[in-house]
Amino acid sequence: MRLQINKSAIHIIQGDITQQNTDAIVNAANSSLMGGGGVDGAIHRTGGPSILAECKEIVKKQGRLPTGEAVITTAGNMASKYVIHTVGPVYKDGKSNEPQLLANAYRNSLTVAAEKKLETLSFPAISTGIYGYPVDDATEIAFRTVIDFLREHTQIILVRFVLFDDRTFSSYQQALTRLRAQIYGEE
Ligand code: ADP
Repeated sequence: MRLQINKSAIHIIQGDITQQNTDAIVNAANSSLMGGGGVDGAIHRTGGPSILAECKEIVKKQGRLPTGEAVITTAGNMASKYVIHTVGPVYKDGKSNEPQLLANAYRNSLTVAAEKKLETLSFPAISTGIYGYPVDDATEIAFRTVIDFLREHTQIILVRFVLFDDRTFSSYQQALTRLRAQIYGEE
């Protein structure tokens, strides 16, 4: 399923982000950048130790990565060229700036990719695993932020949302169906 925003496309697929061949894949990291569980663990395991070595250099220079910010490393053994590490918010009550921080994580990842002149990018469902963000709310923020960015920037031509589990994929399918109805007037 896809959505066209000017000359850029948004795709959703169910799968494993470590297997994507986009220029970059985004990692839902934590502030320490030292790896962890979920998608972060999968990326470091599949990409190999060079990613952690680069993360350590970044933390040495600029300290821990604040929530909502993004940095870039190479992708080690994976098919993509780069990993963009961003930190989504831990969900508390929905009133602790979580929506803004989650939008920042998406927007800053896209900005880092555009600055590096990359054209294609894969995102996981940031914050919706261990960090506990309600999936449907997070899905809406992911789409809204990416669509707004693609409307204003032409560097990125493909954003692929790579959803791991059935529940998350179905949330993205429903959101995409609603958006296509709004944008293309589909039934
Ligand atoms: P966070 O700490 O930001 O919540 P998690 O890694 O716990 O990050 O979860 C974010 C999402 O990534 C969840 O939907 C989880 O199912 C998914 N996920 C886990 N492994 C992978 C993978 N290999 N590829 C894509 N998504 C993954």
